[in-house]
Amino acid sequence: MPATESVVLFVVDGMRPDGLQQAPTPNADKLVRDGASTFTARTVMPSSTLPCHTSLFRGVPSERHGVTTNTWSPPVRAVPSIIDVVHREGGMTASFYNWEQLRDLSDPGSLNASFYVDNCGDPGGDTQIAEAAAAHMERAMPTFSFVYFGRTDIVGHDTGWMSEQYIDAIGGADDALGIVLGAVREDTTVILTADHGGHDKTHGTTAPEDMTIPWIMRGPDTPAGDTIDAQVDIIDTPATICALLGIAPSDQWTGKVVREAISG
Ligand SMILES: [Zn+2]
Repeated sequence: MPATESVVLFVVDGMRPDGLQQAPTPNADKLVRDGASTFTARTVMPSSTLPCHTSLFRGVPSERHGVTTNTWSPPVRAVPSIIDVVHREGGMTASFYNWEQLRDLSDPGSLNASFYVDNCGDPGGDTQIAEAAAAHMERAMPTFSFVYFGRTDIVGHDTGWMSEQYIDAIGGADDALGIVLGAVREDTTVILTADHGGHDKTHGTTAPEDMTIPWIMRGPDTPAGDTIDAQVDIIDTPATICALLGIAPSDQWTGKVVREAISG
């Protein structure tokens, strides 16, 4: 049986792997040292925020879920999200985010707690999200939590991906990450990833800079310091979370379990 009792999924919007490597990120660096990671995971096309998050949560590529812009539309054939599946299995779920379009990452009735503030344009916005998440987790750790930091993408669009300001924003996201990690228990598995990368002042294309994302996992079931050699795709995330929690994945998902990141 897995030792993981709870999972926290962190997304730093638009965080490129090489940006993460350049920025001062002591909290993410510690996750890499203590967990399993790859800096060559792949997102889906179009490499835009809502399509990529929909694949991240619903375990299928865009062609299947049909969300190809940042405007939500329900899939023609329903496909549950990781939030729906964990909730259906009796788990507690929570979402903390500062970009409102992410309200549709689960079906109505599946979230036990949700915190949204429209502040991803504010320098301190991600910190407020992190503090809300940490306070909630200290009261009662949900089985599955989503924590989203949106500022990095805003700065990328303003000043360019890999600009000095963008690298600083990744450092800011790492500070926010640290706030939440302070509330995370030993039997919690943490996943840190991004929805997409970016180039110049944009993203959404098939360019490797847009499509390549970091994928880092640390927890009681994860081998420490392991580099994941297999190709990880963003759609693999929900099946992997189910494997960690010991619950059945949706039969609609086409993503696989990232076995290399799970010990034994
Ligand atoms: Zn994004």
